[in-house]
Amino acid sequence: MNLEAFVLGCGGMAPLPNRHLTSVLLRREGELFLFDCGEGTQVSLRRLNLRWKKITAIFISHTHADHVTGLPGLLMLSSQVERDDPLYIFGPPKIAEYIEESRRVLDMYINYEIIVKEVTEPGVVYGGEDFYIRAFPLRHTKPCYGYTLEETDRPGEFHPEKAKELQVPMGPLWAKLQAGQAVENSEGTIVQPEDVLGPKRSGRKFTFVTDTLAFPAIANEAKGSDLFICEGMFEQALMESAIEKRHMTAEQAGHLAKMAGAGKLGLIHYSPRYTDYDLKNLLREARAVFPNTVLTKDRMVFPMEYVD
Ligand SMILES: [Zn+2]
Ligand SMILES: [Zn+2]
Repeated sequence: MNLEAFVLGCGGMAPLPNRHLTSVLLRREGELFLFDCGEGTQVSLRRLNLRWKKITAIFISHTHADHVTGLPGLLMLSSQVERDDPLYIFGPPKIAEYIEESRRVLDMYINYEIIVKEVTEPGVVYGGEDFYIRAFPLRHTKPCYGYTLEETDRPGEFHPEKAKELQVPMGPLWAKLQAGQAVENSEGTIVQPEDVLGPKRSGRKFTFVTDTLAFPAIANEAKGSDLFICEGMFEQALMESAIEKRHMTAEQAGHLAKMAGAGKLGLIHYSPRYTDYDLKNLLREARAVFPNTVLTKDRMVFPMEYVD
């Protein structure tokens, strides 16, 4: 099953010519989930040539302009395709008001249902058959949430030789065992799936954290993430200013990634004070703590593979 993250915008506060505002799209076997929607989101979607007009759900960290100003246009243009399923939008209080008022003032024509759910406490906000998306509180100047998408464990590897040994003939019974059901073998004995399957294999995990102070609970939430997208707004020399503005430094993001045992850290939401050249300092500082760190850039793609 394919799982990829597309960085649509990596900038914080103000858009720059080569940095749209923060937004990441996750594509899981064709289903789309959007995390934040800053200015420029649509431009990146178009340049990536993604078929994006049927996003399943949008997850908003907080209602600061640099995270939501791309939404009205995106909602409006999503009406260019027919859809039966509603679009879910999750975010802290004020998100519903922001969407309702934008629709009213802009006289937006929308041909599908939008279901807005305000997030006020940590917990699972959305789920499918084999994955769930969880929200958890961050510490910023207004209510702000981080999100994880986590897949449930997959069945273990099927061992055909064991099935043969246990007198289960090849065919539909094998498929049942693979799907986790017990079957009767040719001698009338019950064979359990665990008799022929290896240990359960882990799913993948994606974490999105932006606009927050760094604090240990973030690492707990992000634990075991294959890809951890985290704000790296400032260099270490501006730590005081970062704390005052309730943001974090790239190095702090590195510490969180290390504590979380993440596979890869993708920094995002850079202060516009830094040129692309300056960002190398942020990368160096984060890598000193967590070597597998990258600077995300607009339209960068991160395929996420199964570990086992
Ligand atoms: Zn921001
Ligand atoms: Zn903010």
